[in-house]
Amino acid sequence: MLASAAVGAGGDELKEACGLFGVWAPGEDVARITFFGLFSLQHRGQESAGMAVSDGQHILVYRELGLVSQVFDERTLATLQGDLCIGHTRYSTTGSTNWENAQPSFKTNGTRGLALGHNGNLVNTPELDRRVGRRGAATTDSDIVATLLAQHLDEGLERAALAVLPELRGAYSFVMMDERSVFAARDPFGIRPLSIGRLPSGWCVASETCAFDVAGAQFVREVEPGELVTIDDRGVRSHRFAESPRPALCLFEFAYLSRADSRHYGRSVHEARREMGRLLAREAPADADLVIPIPDTGHSAAEGYAEVARIPFGEGLMKNRYIGRTFIEPTPALRARGVRLKLNPLPETIQGKRLVVVDDSIVRGTTTRQIVQVLRDAGAAEVHLRIVSPPIRWPCFYGIDMSTRDELIAANHRVEEIRDFVGANSLAYLSLAGLVEATRAPAGTLCRACFDGEYPVPVGDQMPSKFALETL
Ligand code: SF4
Repeated sequence: MLASAAVGAGGDELKEACGLFGVWAPGEDVARITFFGLFSLQHRGQESAGMAVSDGQHILVYRELGLVSQVFDERTLATLQGDLCIGHTRYSTTGSTNWENAQPSFKTNGTRGLALGHNGNLVNTPELDRRVGRRGAATTDSDIVATLLAQHLDEGLERAALAVLPELRGAYSFVMMDERSVFAARDPFGIRPLSIGRLPSGWCVASETCAFDVAGAQFVREVEPGELVTIDDRGVRSHRFAESPRPALCLFEFAYLSRADSRHYGRSVHEARREMGRLLAREAPADADLVIPIPDTGHSAAEGYAEVARIPFGEGLMKNRYIGRTFIEPTPALRARGVRLKLNPLPETIQGKRLVVVDDSIVRGTTTRQIVQVLRDAGAAEVHLRIVSPPIRWPCFYGIDMSTRDELIAANHRVEEIRDFVGANSLAYLSLAGLVEATRAPAGTLCRACFDGEYPVPVGDQMPSKFALETL
């Protein structure tokens, strides 16, 4: 599953990745801890939120469309009592946005149950679906995995996972649970992040380390690529279900997907983004009066750009952070206001200024074009766009919702043509070498396929439609 419509919210319509959280802490309010964890992972998916909780005997699942704060309140949290819990925030990469596809998925073999949350996207879904048969009538890749696991559940979920995970191809981080244990797993390339944290009286796992801070947990380590981790009253146990050819964490986690207060490979995302801005200022200087970010993800990079360019840094656009599902499918009247629903200019700051505008990426170009127009309407004298990632020329098959080349403006147009389309005075991108350098990730440990077309997991020419399973 992947993540959210981000019109003007940093990233040009780039979609985010799902958020995962899990906790094993008998005696604690595990649902509330999970609520806080999911709340801090809200940026990874805003279509639906859900939790599964177990008291050691039974698994109870609650999931609904909407933001975490819309789905859960005191009344629902009070009903979710237990010793272990997993949670999920969703953006769909397969399947529609409907209640049935919200996660965690729940399956039972009649005597035992399992719940599963998925971040990523599988590339051998049709093959797995044939194996499941239409008995399961799964409509998402995540549901297929849950069905396969349920078919092995007589042996216990740990053995089921060790049997099923090696059959999966693509990007996946999972949190899973049965009645007594929490499980965490990452694909052999570790394309999507997942980490383990220590609570005073238990353990938790999360897509991003920012969730540990609010949950009161200390970061312990990342789940290794190809590793299954089991957490229960016998402690934390590690199982290797596949060899890792090489780690290939999504480079976009640094540039856009993750929150600035998270860490990957030990590197602060905020610091990495500042460095991207510094490098971009050296690679693509601009003669300007003010550096402004496209909030929120452009913020750290814009600071870095301003520092090296010795140009004042300022806020030129205010982001409305509280738009939930209400506006995902707006009325025609609301849609006409476009990007202003999420970004509003500060004319007093912008008026008459030559602006450097720092953003994380351009996908289709349509939102960037609207932002440039908003800035010009607010009185900007010049708009110099600086993008802290290289042109996106290849689709992502691993959970970011840009699965055809047709929708990528840089796949079909030169930089000057893109500049002309978005209406900027100048446009420059950070080099791939610069982006990788800013992460300080060890050499060869990142997926960068959408920039250079070298996919760590082989894929076909095109991904099937995200709704393919619903039309079979
Ligand atoms: S193709 Fe791009 S967006 Fe997709 S996982 Fe790789 S680096 Fe991330």
